[in-house]
Amino acid sequence: MKVLVTGGAGFIGSHIVDALLDSHYEVVVVDNLVTGHIKNIHPSVRFYQLDVRRDLDDLFGKEKPDYVIHQAGQVSVSQSLIDPLYDCEENIIGTLSILQACVRHHVKKMVFASTAAIYGNPVYLPVDEGHPLHPISFYGLTKWHAEKCIQLFSEAHQLDYTILRYANVYGPRQDARGEAGAIAIFIEKVIKGERPVLFGDGKQTRDFVYVKDVARANVAALTNGNQEILNVGTGQESSLEEVIGQLGEISGKNIQPILSPERAGDIRSSVLNNERLQLKLNRFPFYSLKDGLVETVKFYEQEFLTGLRG
Ligand code: NAD
Repeated sequence: MKVLVTGGAGFIGSHIVDALLDSHYEVVVVDNLVTGHIKNIHPSVRFYQLDVRRDLDDLFGKEKPDYVIHQAGQVSVSQSLIDPLYDCEENIIGTLSILQACVRHHVKKMVFASTAAIYGNPVYLPVDEGHPLHPISFYGLTKWHAEKCIQLFSEAHQLDYTILRYANVYGPRQDARGEAGAIAIFIEKVIKGERPVLFGDGKQTRDFVYVKDVARANVAALTNGNQEILNVGTGQESSLEEVIGQLGEISGKNIQPILSPERAGDIRSSVLNNERLQLKLNRFPFYSLKDGLVETVKFYEQEFLTGLRG
């Protein structure tokens, strides 16, 4: 079976490619490298440097993928507030373009990367899939719109789909920016011997989900959870203070963060209910925060040692 992964040169997409290859799928990657990197592309996949917003007929006609995992998009919340039009093009037009190609070329199913940002400020915790949707960024809004486009296409053309709403993803290959950049930024600072900046009192919580769990959820969704919207989170709240404490233990350093005033608009607490995911995707145990951080720190240390990061 062949899977086309958009955004496969990016952080999460490249881990999905690894997980697909481990499960013996044939993989094709489409990425325009706007934020992705050539070094992330697995040597045993066919790579097309293409923009998902343009006509993909030739590519789909040539490769005839059975499944599509759509990760490509504009991923920065703050950038979406500066340039909502670009967000629209990337997250809505890009998704429509992929949907049209899927229908024309009889793709069996599309799995889509959505986000907890579409819920906005939680009105209760943990946030389940029935929680009201009230995005507070264009990023959240355009992802919500993309979800609606997928559902309409599915009704009109019988295209199977699973929509996965990710919590704050972290792990190797993440750039120190984006939705869950905090862990990447903290680790870079710690390795460089610098003090990380902590906004507010450090007690704000997030649902940090390890990228390999997200990748495995995507692979499982190819054959499970049809026409479902599923949260991808650990169901565990972790405070930023706790993350810094664990990084101190792992690195053996006494980390003294620089305390800075709380940023306006920052959500205080956030955690996703993952019961539906566990039910629909026959899921495995998630990485603990500690185990995920150990692997991530090891990766960044290696990158600094080999000069790939600096
Ligand atoms: P990333 O920037 O590392 O990956 C995105 C990839 O898409 C990049 O390789 C980029 O070059 C490519 N891309 C962007 N626009 C493209 C276009 N028009 N045509 C072709 N390729 C294009 O980001 P990521 O963190 O790996 O995010 C992957 C997906 O997961 C995104 O859709 C994002 O919205 C979603 N998501 C991420 C998080 C998180 O915590 N990182 C949380 C929720 C949802």
